[in-house]
Amino acid sequence: MDFAPTAEQRARQAEVMAFGQRLGANAAEHDRLGVFDEAGWKACADFGVLGWPISPTYGGSGLDPLSVAMAFEALGHSCVDNGLVFAINNHVFACAVYIADHGTDEQRERWLPRLCDGSLIGAHALTEPDHGSDMLAIETTARQVGDDYILNGTKTFISNAPVAGLFIVFARTSDDNVPQRRLTAFIVPADTPGLSVRPIAKAGLRGTPMGEITFDSCVVPAEHRLGAEGAGYRLFTSTMEWERGFMFASQVGVLGRLLERSVDHATRRTQFGRPIGGYQAVSGKIADMRVRLELAQLLLYKVAWLRSQGKLALHEASMLKLCVSEGLKATALDAMQLHGARGYTEELGIEREVRDALAGTIYAGTSEIQRSVIAGLLGLPA
Ligand SMILES: Cc1cc2nc3c(=O)[nH]c(=O)nc-3n(C[C@H](O)[C@H](O)[C@H](O)COP(=O)(O)OP(=O)(O)OC[C@H]3O[C@@H](n4cnc5c(N)ncnc54)[C@H](O)[C@@H]3O)c2cc1C
Repeated sequence: MDFAPTAEQRARQAEVMAFGQRLGANAAEHDRLGVFDEAGWKACADFGVLGWPISPTYGGSGLDPLSVAMAFEALGHSCVDNGLVFAINNHVFACAVYIADHGTDEQRERWLPRLCDGSLIGAHALTEPDHGSDMLAIETTARQVGDDYILNGTKTFISNAPVAGLFIVFARTSDDNVPQRRLTAFIVPADTPGLSVRPIAKAGLRGTPMGEITFDSCVVPAEHRLGAEGAGYRLFTSTMEWERGFMFASQVGVLGRLLERSVDHATRRTQFGRPIGGYQAVSGKIADMRVRLELAQLLLYKVAWLRSQGKLALHEASMLKLCVSEGLKATALDAMQLHGARGYTEELGIEREVRDALAGTIYAGTSEIQRSVIAGLLGLPA
């Protein structure tokens, strides 16, 4: 395994860092008001972010997996509007890559160019009010009638839902004895009659609008089915490296940003006549941040490397997701503690980092679920 960045990857990282620093100027306001940054979205689309992992045939850049990971890490590090970056993550890794990996040529031609140029915002609708971690129990149904499917049910906590133009929706198409064969994925445009969205306010990542979607006898043509009928679970798990792996690349970047801010503060801030970084209780926290960053980077690059070798990375993606999300939560809290009262005010943006970091241990499979996936892959009983 060789993760040393090439000259091209290094140059791209530098470009992305410079670009990301220009974004996020109004992050605090977007957070306070819960506003989706349309201008930032457009700038990211123009910069090519939305198509980094997508083939140039469909309007993307076709970057290799390690380059995608490094570019998103740089974006997460440099753009302080975590909400905007999370909206992009959902769009790219929970919608566009599904169509790129599992769509027909016709579906790719129809949807990917608009997802890459940002004129269409994507979202991923799996969770339901009564079924979160237990995804195989979802109750939204898709009943085939002639050349159409009729969708009924409710999806909730869906990132981007209030602004999305396109949803990847998972629904139950049968009551097969094998639960893994019951689900099917569909590409559902937001303007489908019978589809409605109710916004949901949340603690952090407020620049990513969230919503609940209701499907009331929505007619979805069979040609919008993604993959075979009954293949929804297989499709979900085979795309897992994207959602539990690459979706967390930007959080690795945030770990780097919080580390830099903490080192800077601990060097400048003096108490009792010495920089606070000279006290082991403070420098120990910073050393832990550095270790979390190193482990997160290594796991991220390993997932990317495995994917570039065409190998499965389910185990590694779960470990990455667990390591990055728990590590970011701990790092954000430590950063707040070592910034003292200033860290707790709204003036430095550290409290926003804490609120934003809290979500990562819940979405894309909670930490508890990651631990049971990792234990299950070791052969322990589920
Ligand atoms: C910011 C954010 C964005 C999100 N975006 C999306 C999205 O775009 N699309 C989407 O479909 N969903 C999205 N979700 C929903 C997310 O995927 C679910 O919240 C998650 O899967 C957990 O489901 P739940 O909230 O219903 O919790 P539950 O499943 O009810 O779990 C509650 C608690 O019980 C624990 N638990 C449950 N089962 C077990 C078990 N077997 N063993 C041990 N512990 C267990 C959980 O770990 C958790 O701590 C988002 C959530 C958040 C917070």
